[in-house]
Amino acid sequence: MSAPIPSPRQNADERFTISMSAPSLTDADLKAVMQVLRTPRLSMGPQGELFEQAVAEYVGARHAVAVSSGTTGLHLCVRALGIRDGDLVLTTPFSFVASANVILYERAVPIFVDVDPLTGNIDPGAVARAAQDLSQGGSQASKWLPRQGSGSGAQLKALLTVDVFGQPADYDRIAGVAQAYDLGLIEDSCEALGSERNGKAAGTFGDMGAFAFYPNKQITTGEGGMLVTDRDDLAEMARTLRNQGRAPGDEWLEHTYLGYNYRLNELNAALGVAQMKRIDDLIESRAGVAQAYQERLAGLQGVETMSIESGTSRMSWFVYVVKLDPAFDRATVIKRLEEVGIPSRPYFQPIHLQRYFREMFDYRPGDYPVTEDLGSRSLALPFSSIMTASQVDQVVEGLTNTLENLA
Ligand SMILES: *Cc1c(COP(=O)(O)O)cnc(C)c1O
Repeated sequence: MSAPIPSPRQNADERFTISMSAPSLTDADLKAVMQVLRTPRLSMGPQGELFEQAVAEYVGARHAVAVSSGTTGLHLCVRALGIRDGDLVLTTPFSFVASANVILYERAVPIFVDVDPLTGNIDPGAVARAAQDLSQGGSQASKWLPRQGSGSGAQLKALLTVDVFGQPADYDRIAGVAQAYDLGLIEDSCEALGSERNGKAAGTFGDMGAFAFYPNKQITTGEGGMLVTDRDDLAEMARTLRNQGRAPGDEWLEHTYLGYNYRLNELNAALGVAQMKRIDDLIESRAGVAQAYQERLAGLQGVETMSIESGTSRMSWFVYVVKLDPAFDRATVIKRLEEVGIPSRPYFQPIHLQRYFREMFDYRPGDYPVTEDLGSRSLALPFSSIMTASQVDQVVEGLTNTLENLA
């Protein structure tokens, strides 16, 4: 195997000596992409199929459908499950905004429930209570609804959960709720390729799951995504919608459904195939970096490291996030770190407080206190599979000095 190419991109931002995230690219990866350029098939070809097979096999799903991004994959999950105008979908406000946007794309209504303070994953007890109340309707239901923007008599249709920072949510309980109330379950595993809960792969707990391959993810295709499902009908619908709504049997320029161009091209797919050959190494390298952070930060006053649940039998780390003690002003910490060449970021910003969510549903600060607390104290540190031990030391030293100076 060829070694990762030392990349000038690492120092693309001159303020920093370390990058926030970086892909691992080898000569073999570059060659794989180049080889596609020597063929006439630049889209809808063998690389896409190989990439789908590789991911399906890796996670143990019957079908994988390659798409242009994690977001478009999630959107196809929503469409394939028939979620429509006014339908209610239970989901988390502590996520990257795309997981809630795909519900809005279909004019359905995201119903947020708060998260577990230790993992940041959706609180399964709250999911169960909300599902029960919303299925009953009436005044019980209304306490979960937003102040405005959801129609009367709207039906709870589905759950859309997120495997936050790479850790699978509590599917023992969540899948039980989905089954009990006959709800669709979509798993946003865009941060969790390779993770497992009790030996079962992230992405495979619901009716459909989605992965993403932006350059900061465990593997990258530049842009790209993959949805997985065990159901033949959902896979077929996803393939149809990805390709302009052309159903199996449709003639050229015949379109049965309103579809999209959400295809992944052959250059991206070839990079995905090459990256999948190294996925276990990439995940192992990330775990090594995370472990180094965990050990070096363990005794540091003022930061809480992330907790991994006992049910998480394999953790595929996406980001490395710590919680700052509320005594510290996060913006000041970020600025001081920047002054010594270390980037860091708030991660995530609560979705319900994004401007258009406030305008559509009248959400207000205080609506989801655990999410807001995590959102105000979380700090993502530089993290990638090609980060060195001395870079981890540099970040830890910078953070330690910063907190000592501010204490
Ligand atoms: C990255 C990510 C996505 C979207 O992936 P894109 O490929 O950027 O569209 C969706 N949800 C979560 C939680 C993510 O982290």
